[in-house]
Amino acid sequence: MREHLQKLLALRDLDGTILTAERKVKLLEREITAIERRITAEKGDFERRLEEHRALRLRATEKAMEADEIDEKIRSYQHRLDHDIIPYKEMEYLREQVEFLRSRIDAVEEEAIRLMDEVEEDERRLQEEKRAYEERLKGLEQEKAEVEAKITALRDEIEALKDKRVIAIEEIPAHLRSHYERLREMYPDPVVPIVNGTCSGCHLNISQTTVDRARQGEVVTCDNCSRFLFLESAL
Ligand SMILES: [Zn+2]
Repeated sequence: MREHLQKLLALRDLDGTILTAERKVKLLEREITAIERRITAEKGDFERRLEEHRALRLRATEKAMEADEIDEKIRSYQHRLDHDIIPYKEMEYLREQVEFLRSRIDAVEEEAIRLMDEVEEDERRLQEEKRAYEERLKGLEQEKAEVEAKITALRDEIEALKDKRVIAIEEIPAHLRSHYERLREMYPDPVVPIVNGTCSGCHLNISQTTVDRARQGEVVTCDNCSRFLFLESAL
């Protein structure tokens, strides 16, 4: 009888170890999800940063084109004033236009140069940020690979434990085995000690007869919750 109890306890320990390992796998899987979320966020942030840089570059190009267009207009108007025979009114208009465009071109060119400088400066910053970003990404991928390796190791361990369980359960008499399996579906602790005359699973009192039988090393169960009971002193 004591032998049955020992085997039930060994099975309980094995199941406990399997449960703990399975919980660890779940936690690690959650860790993977969190890392993947961080990777996605990093990629999104950097994509936005690239977009920002492209927008700045576009503004600089547009400003430079605006300066070129103004310059082109000035040249063409001036050419007409210098070489064409044109009515006085049109000549006046062209002169006004040239004057107006000349007053504008400096500011536009200055702005174009300032933007081009800004693009260069931003490009330098971007390269630094890119290196840091790639470094972070590499770190995260590495972190993910490490967690994945842990999960694989744990799954192998669980498989080995389950193989051991198949053997362990076969050594237990059929009626005890089926009761154990039913208990396990309800409780994480199907085999518990009697502490101070009470079942340490449901905390209700155990009859003296049951305590006495447990003292003999018999396999007994709780009248209330049906858990297998044992006395530490009887092991
Ligand atoms: Zn109980």
